[in-house]
Amino acid sequence: MKKFCYLLIAFLALYSCKNVTPESAKVTTENKKVKPQKKAEYAMAIHGGAGTILRKNMTTEKEAEFRAKLNEALNAGEAILKSGGTAMDAVVATINVMEDSPLFNAGKGAVFTNHGTNELDASFMDGKTQNAGAISGVTNIKNPINAARAVLERSNHVMLSGKGAEKFAKEQGLEIVDPSYFWTQHRMDALDKAKAKEMQLGYHDQLEFNDWKYGTVGCAALDKDGNLAAGTSTGGMTNKRFNRIGDAPIIGAGCYANNNTCAISSTGHGEFFIRYAVAHDISARMEYLKEDLKTAANQVVNEKLVEVGGSGGIISVDKHGNVAMPHNTPGMYRGFAKPNERGVYIYGDEE
Ligand code: ASP
Repeated sequence: MKKFCYLLIAFLALYSCKNVTPESAKVTTENKKVKPQKKAEYAMAIHGGAGTILRKNMTTEKEAEFRAKLNEALNAGEAILKSGGTAMDAVVATINVMEDSPLFNAGKGAVFTNHGTNELDASFMDGKTQNAGAISGVTNIKNPINAARAVLERSNHVMLSGKGAEKFAKEQGLEIVDPSYFWTQHRMDALDKAKAKEMQLGYHDQLEFNDWKYGTVGCAALDKDGNLAAGTSTGGMTNKRFNRIGDAPIIGAGCYANNNTCAISSTGHGEFFIRYAVAHDISARMEYLKEDLKTAANQVVNEKLVEVGGSGGIISVDKHGNVAMPHNTPGMYRGFAKPNERGVYIYGDEE
């Protein structure tokens, strides 16, 4: 009987110990692990798309061109942040440099739809107010990111599409171009290749063909006032049909900013980024699980997305100025800038 009583007491003690540690308490213990951090004066990160970007497929000249343009984009944003400008201004100025370059799949270098046209998407988010703006499927707005910002600042909406978005942009005095402005030989060659693949594989399987995934651009920034902002701009995927819209203009998938956590821009196979609400998921992990930026971003990009076959990557800056740029593809055009620190990378083995 005595033995039984001891056993009962031991069991009850064990049982109660197990239950005084509810999930919330575990999170509190975790919280203690996140050391208070000093905020970087400012920080920014950019991408110019993720995909099968390999040294063996790159010429020295092409690589130098990409690195120079990524540096030019960082220069544009950093000049603003350094002089005390806003993260929102820095994001737009940085993305404009990449949109105006034929190197990237955004603005001037946008990929072609199946009909040989260009349909552009962009999104923009302010981490301070969590206001957001996006446009999708536009054909004549020179810098789609400016239109996304105009939606945020000068409309009551979050997303405008097609002809309506174009009308709105014109009314706002944004630069409108003839659609032929977006025509480039290398994107036409990519469309021809994708169509040839489609003949072999059918429409859906050719979408897995790697070349369409290059070149979306994005920027995330933290300014001296502690405000975060993010933006993304793209031509979408080569050979797209049916007015397909990807993740780039979807707030929470291709773009997200929240002053309590981080700012993020995504690139990759958009359908997966939409389904898994990638940008918001990273922010939510930071907010609810108290994960740091690197852990949260890696978890989503290198675990969750990999498990389901979603290829791509993200660039992000947190409220302290930490930068994370994980990608599960062989390469991603990317870079970051902080006071007295800069990095520009293309391949997976560089950082
Ligand atoms: N995410 C873009 C889309 O699916 C493409 C890309 O980032 O390359 O439209």
